Amino acid sequence: MDKPEKKEKPARKPRESILVLCAHSDDQILGLGGTLAKYSDEGKRILIIIFSYGEKSHPWLKKKVTVKMRVKESQDAGKVIGAEKTIFMGIEEGRFSEDIETKGIHEKIKRLIEDCRPIKIFTHSSDDPMPDHGAINKFTIDLLNEISYAGDVYAFDVWTPLKIKERSLPKVYIDITKTFSRKIEALKCFESQWMSMISLLWSVYYRAVKNGFKSRCRYAEVFYKIR
Ligand SMILES: [Zn+2]
Repeated sequence: MDKPEKKEKPARKPRESILVLCAHSDDQILGLGGTLAKYSDEGKRILIIIFSYGEKSHPWLKKKVTVKMRVKESQDAGKVIGAEKTIFMGIEEGRFSEDIETKGIHEKIKRLIEDCRPIKIFTHSSDDPMPDHGAINKFTIDLLNEISYAGDVYAFDVWTPLKIKERSLPKVYIDITKTFSRKIEALKCFESQWMSMISLLWSVYYRAVKNGFKSRCRYAEVFYKIR
């Protein structure tokens, strides 16, 4: 009996990765939760790096909430939007530049970028008034320059609208009409912060609608393409 011919397996295309670098445990959802859910639906791998647990610079984050709880909430929120991994760097707030040096963060992230080869990287905007956000922007841009990163880099904002310095950069609107409800669902994972976050929720809706209006869809998120 003839042996059945071995069929050549079609080469599987590696999944494209999207990387987010942000300061605090909820920035990624507030800034681009809808966009991340959309990319995840398209089959992309979503990797999120959170530098600190966040308790000082966001007035709605309560200090007494334990780190463990904050990590769990971020990971739950990550699951809602389809993130593959949410990684914490454990930096203390207000000590960004010192901790980045001493905790080997620079090397860790460099290796991670080399391993997962993201096609797009998202980070805070350079004109974000929160110092930790600005510090992450600077760190990211310096690192990407150093490794001559060739993918696209986008800036997002958390509460304050993008403007000022980066006004001349191309703006990109992402239609999140289909995933907006998952962004809200993901925000609800921050149970320990929920009572204070709920008072700010109008702004999440307002911005999604305003950006949606500008890009002729129901809900949208906006980014600046920084390189
Ligand atoms: Zn933040």
